[in-house]
Amino acid sequence: MDSRKTPAIGIDLGTTYSVVARLDETGRPVSLVNAEGDLLTPSVVLVEGEGAIVGKEAVKALGSEPEHVAQCAKREVGNDLFHQPLAGRNYPPEVLEAWILKKLHDDAALQVGPFRQVVITVPAYFDEVRRKATQDAGYMAGLELLDIINEPTAAAVAFGYQQGFFRPNASSREKQNILVYDLGGGTFDVTVMQLAGGTFTALATDGDVQLGGRDWDQRLVNFAAAEFQQRHGTDPRHDSVAAARLWRECEDLKRTLSARPRGLLTYEFQGLPLQLEITREQFADLTHDLLERTRFTTVQALAAAKLTWSDIQRVLLVGGSTRMPMVVDLLRQLSGREPDRSVSADEAVAHGAALHAGILLAKSAGKRPKFTVRNVNSHSLGVVANDPATQRERNAIVIPRNSPLPIAARRRFKTSKTGQNSILVRIVEGESASPDACTPIGRCVVRELPADLAAGTPIEVAFRYEANGRLTITVKVSGTDRKLTHELTRASGLGDAERNAWRRRIAGDDIAADEL
Ligand code: ADP
Ligand code: MG
Repeated sequence: MDSRKTPAIGIDLGTTYSVVARLDETGRPVSLVNAEGDLLTPSVVLVEGEGAIVGKEAVKALGSEPEHVAQCAKREVGNDLFHQPLAGRNYPPEVLEAWILKKLHDDAALQVGPFRQVVITVPAYFDEVRRKATQDAGYMAGLELLDIINEPTAAAVAFGYQQGFFRPNASSREKQNILVYDLGGGTFDVTVMQLAGGTFTALATDGDVQLGGRDWDQRLVNFAAAEFQQRHGTDPRHDSVAAARLWRECEDLKRTLSARPRGLLTYEFQGLPLQLEITREQFADLTHDLLERTRFTTVQALAAAKLTWSDIQRVLLVGGSTRMPMVVDLLRQLSGREPDRSVSADEAVAHGAALHAGILLAKSAGKRPKFTVRNVNSHSLGVVANDPATQRERNAIVIPRNSPLPIAARRRFKTSKTGQNSILVRIVEGESASPDACTPIGRCVVRELPADLAAGTPIEVAFRYEANGRLTITVKVSGTDRKLTHELTRASGLGDAERNAWRRRIAGDDIAADEL
């Protein structure tokens, strides 16, 4: 295939809004508008019959048939099912994500012609299970994933491109440490990166997959609903249509408060009116603890990178929620410098993804890439081991978080009983010493051990973690020829048959039967 004809496409699959970008003929990233003519596509899915409507129309349907509409499915990626049935049926969150991807693909293909290969972004803080589910969503949408990259990394790449870091001999190629603060609609991510020449190295990453603009909205909704209840003795949140409408008004008020020092909420339910004036200060008070959580995480990421604020040359703000003045104030106060808002808060992530796609396509065509990205893992990986001291199970970490990828690491354990004939290795992800507080991500079993194997026989567990997030495990039992190399099979997620059935239903006629 002629790689020049393959467009470099990046998709920012956001919790609230998604954006698609491509590289133009000169290699510059540009956003593509959707079929409605908008840059941002709401990540909202209206299930209708066997298919789905995604975007603006789905948002509109929230006002009339909220029980058919899914919002913020990304927040639940990694769970088995979306928290609420849609039109009476339960859906895995990655299926809802696949519908969003399908819409983004179809609209983009109208402009750039047919394509399948894409780079999709995920929050840096996404764990293995969520990354795998995102990959599955791409597959079910009929796409081929060149790679998954972290959103803050993508934003940093877009920034580096804009700053001329990719131009040979550009004067701006001096080493820079940048902190990317990404507050979107449903997730918060912070990453410390070093830009040196054409190399982007993540030094540390941290975040919260349950924190974003929607939590700020929720505070206004709660405040307004309490006020309504006090005045009229009824709570509009108990009616799903009225609640959706109140949400919309509150989100609008939040945006007003980014532009003006005070805003007015006008609402009506069952003929009862509510008019509420809210100032920026009141809003800041209502949401103080949320902002505080981002401060804590930011400071923690900086410490994990072993840097102080004086080492940070730039603070990059991405994500729609960084338009809130309280966020800009916080980062100005923390860093002692003016936060950089030169990259588009909405488009930077998609642009970085398109640049990354361009690099991967160039590489596969045998060309030398203009930049390289080095990542770290956002969560520790370990195995569940029996602690001889306490006789309790604990998480024995093999690869600590924030390790530069790729990485290989090994750890030794011992068999616990004489004559043990198999060994179960359970792999978990997380920081807690207690396995129950970690995410199970897979297991492997070494079978048919020699019958007389002594208790205390050393077992070596080796992990190899690739830059793309694939994990390979090798287990060796000392003194035997038993060795097992295993690519992780996930403990959760959809099976092949299910994925293919969904792929057929979602991608429809676009996928020829022989491709499945
Ligand atoms: P995601 O990547 O999670 O989909 P985005 O980066 O697109 O999120 O940001 C969406 C969030 O930004 C929403 O919660 C939206 O309400 C918020 N947002 C957008 N514009 C503004 C604004 N002017 N003031 C405050 N919040 C805003
Ligand atoms: Mg985003």
